[in-house]
Order: sequence, then C-alpha cells, then structure tokens
Amino acid sequence: MSAMKLALIAHDGKKNDMVALAAKHLALLQTCSLMATGTTGRRLSSELGLTVDCLLSGPHGGDLQIGARLAVGEVDAVIFLRDPMTPQPHEPDINALVRACDVHDVPCATNLAGAELMLQAWTQRA
Ligand code: PGA
Repeated sequence: MSAMKLALIAHDGKKNDMVALAAKHLALLQTCSLMATGTTGRRLSSELGLTVDCLLSGPHGGDLQIGARLAVGEVDAVIFLRDPMTPQPHEPDINALVRACDVHDVPCATNLAGAELMLQAWTQRA
C-alpha cells in the first residue's frame, strides 16, 4: 500500500493537542507522507522528528495550499484541529479547505475524537 498522504493543521490553541496526537500515533505517522501548515509542521518536525513538508502558515495561505493539493488528488486525509473558541483572520481559507474535502470526498477530522478514529482505522488498514 502506498504511503498515506496526510495533511495536518492545528490552530494555535490546538497545537499542543496535535503534537500529543502525533506522538501517540508516531509509528503510523512515520509511514505517512506528511504535509502541514508552517507552524504546525515545524513543531511536529522539531519536537517529534517527523519529516513534514511545511507549507505556508495558515493565515498566509497554508490552508489554501493544502486545498489546492487536495483538489488534484495529492491529499488522502486531513486532520484539522480547529479552535472553535477563537476567531481566525483566515476564516474564508478554512472554509475553503473544508469545502474542498467535501467536494472531493476526502476524510477530514476537525477534532481529536474524529482524528483518533481516523488514525485507528488507518492503522488497521496498514
Ligand atoms: P500554522 O497555521 O500551522 O502555520 O499556525 C495553522 C493555522 O493557524 O491556520
């Protein structure tokens, strides 16, 4: 089976959760082709040693870059830990990425519980 192409994004209030999630599923994530918005990706790389294709930071277009890749089949799944309590300056970009997931039927987990289910399912497939 080819490596899962997984995109990871976490808003600031959720970045610690993302690092903890990735640490828990490190063995699986090491087999994936990972991409992430800039700050999220750099944390995963520096704190866990994961190889991550770090795109622009979310507010600078990183979500849109992931959406563009997804639209041409270069993303298999998205974990997008959004912070529902904090207004985001790039809300239109966030909505565009989630919409692109729906248009192209790409699984998108927007909270930890969904992400756990997604990664467990993927572990069983691997
Ligand atoms: P970041 O982007 O990983 O560069 O912080 C995520 C976001 O806040 O949209």
